[in-house]
Amino acid sequence: MKKIAIFPGSFDPFTVGHASIVRRGLPLFDEIIIAVGVNENKRALYEKDDRVEFIEELYEGEPRIRVVSYSDLTIDLARREGAKFILRGLRSVKDFEYERDIAAMNQRLGDIETILLLTEPEYQSISSSVVRELIRFGRDVSDFLPKKQ
Ligand code: ADP
Repeated sequence: MKKIAIFPGSFDPFTVGHASIVRRGLPLFDEIIIAVGVNENKRALYEKDDRVEFIEELYEGEPRIRVVSYSDLTIDLARREGAKFILRGLRSVKDFEYERDIAAMNQRLGDIETILLLTEPEYQSISSSVVRELIRFGRDVSDFLPKKQ
């Protein structure tokens, strides 16, 4: 059976930190579905469709990566896609507490295992929210956004 992982997030915008998680996740799975969702707790900068398009262009020509958008629970998306794993990145203790609770719930309700990859040190302080803030104030953020390989 194909090992499929969902990498869910708001990706507003998709950063080099996210790209690093995808790159390191690829050897672990047959397919990674990058799933762009809406986080009710965050005010979005980019439209969901624009976020999807940006990520799609980035991974054009990589047959093992697919990009989708969704607006329901990640476990329901996983069931539709036949995915048994959720991939997430872990930057800090703060991330850990949040991820632990969601992972426990997703395992209980959806029988889905969450695979957490520790962030590489150089990406530890990069977050979409900081990048959004810089964009709002007109700063150059090109160092934080991935480039097509
Ligand atoms: P969400 O709003 O669901 O937290 P994000 O787009 O902020 O979505 O993040 C998606 C995933 O990527 C999360 O697991 C987050 O911890 C991880 N992530 C975000 N930034 C980084 C980074 N710099 N390095 C590694 N993982 C990251």
